[in-house]
Amino acid sequence: MPEATITAFEYEDEVGDRITVRSDEELKAMLSYYYSTVMEQRMNGMLPEPLQIFPRGTCKPLPCCLWPWVLLLSLDISVFLMCLPLFILFIYFSCLLLFVQINEQDIRYQELLGHGNGGTVYKAYHLLGKRVLAVKVIPLDITVELQKQIMSELEILYKCDSPYIITFYSAFFVENRISICTEFMDGGSLDVYRSIPEHVLGRIAVAVVKGLTYLWSLKILHRDVKPSNMLVNTRGQVKLCDFGVSTQLVNSIAKTYVGTNAYMAPERISGEQYGIHSDVWSVGISFMEVNLNHVRGDPPVLPDHPFIMKYNDGNAEVVSMWVCRCLEERRAQQLQSQGVM
Ligand code: ATP
Ligand code: MG
Repeated sequence: MPEATITAFEYEDEVGDRITVRSDEELKAMLSYYYSTVMEQRMNGMLPEPLQIFPRGTCKPLPCCLWPWVLLLSLDISVFLMCLPLFILFIYFSCLLLFVQINEQDIRYQELLGHGNGGTVYKAYHLLGKRVLAVKVIPLDITVELQKQIMSELEILYKCDSPYIITFYSAFFVENRISICTEFMDGGSLDVYRSIPEHVLGRIAVAVVKGLTYLWSLKILHRDVKPSNMLVNTRGQVKLCDFGVSTQLVNSIAKTYVGTNAYMAPERISGEQYGIHSDVWSVGISFMEVNLNHVRGDPPVLPDHPFIMKYNDGNAEVVSMWVCRCLEERRAQQLQSQGVM
């Protein structure tokens, strides 16, 4: 896909899992999956359902619409005719979805997830994209020029594509507030977990290090590493959020900042130059904090490289089981305090 400006798109398989398509091979796999689904539906006397795709990356639709045509033209004429209706449906939905920008009218707010220094985060449902979102709403009294600058600085988020970084969907201004829509993580942030066993913490630490390494490879410094910006989900994924890609946004929020600088590196507090090592400092402080209940005696000393090596096995199952158990416990406690149990 040499001309592609969309970095990837996703479709849902038969169990509702999102599968990412980034290459021709994956595109072919998707089409053959859809083809067999349609055949099966036909054999069962059902009307074939259209395949919906969900774009990831910058919203420039034309190249994405061209890929299927390239594939289509390389087919044998009989296969070509058979596949034509499917391709038309595919293109119709891809264009429809690619032109869809998230806006306030299409969002249904479901619950408050928390307040931070700059704004408030809600769980919400996007009607057109048919998916759950986390929407961070930040009030900002700034000029339209600055609003435009923030929006263009946020563009880089479309390029972030890592399993350790929260997926950015869209951002928009309504009056004097910006809404930033991202992937929703059903386990929430690490700050609310009371104690994390070492075998889980190890996997979380590895994911955080990989997330930061990815950001640094894009020349992005996180600038706000702390437990509340490390999110987990019941699939065992660990992702970083709230990294400072927009200088204007960071500056505008800083004017009303009343938060803690407990995780900030000394050079940052004293106004010196900020670098990768400042993010590393914050990682250390964060893990010292979440690990506090388990640390006995002397605090751990650097280097902790063997620790990272020990848990670098990508075992999401461990984290998943732990997130599910903690959520269950939390739910039971809530019910108990409401007198249901
Ligand atoms: P700061 O404003 O400095 O980042 P914070 O991280 O505590 O401070 P917010 O970023 O506003 O505050 O987030 C508030 C809470 O919302 C978080 O603590 C987290 O529990 C929840 N949250 C944020 N983003 C998501 C998300 N994508 N999925 C699920 N929960 C989220
Ligand atoms: Mg945050």
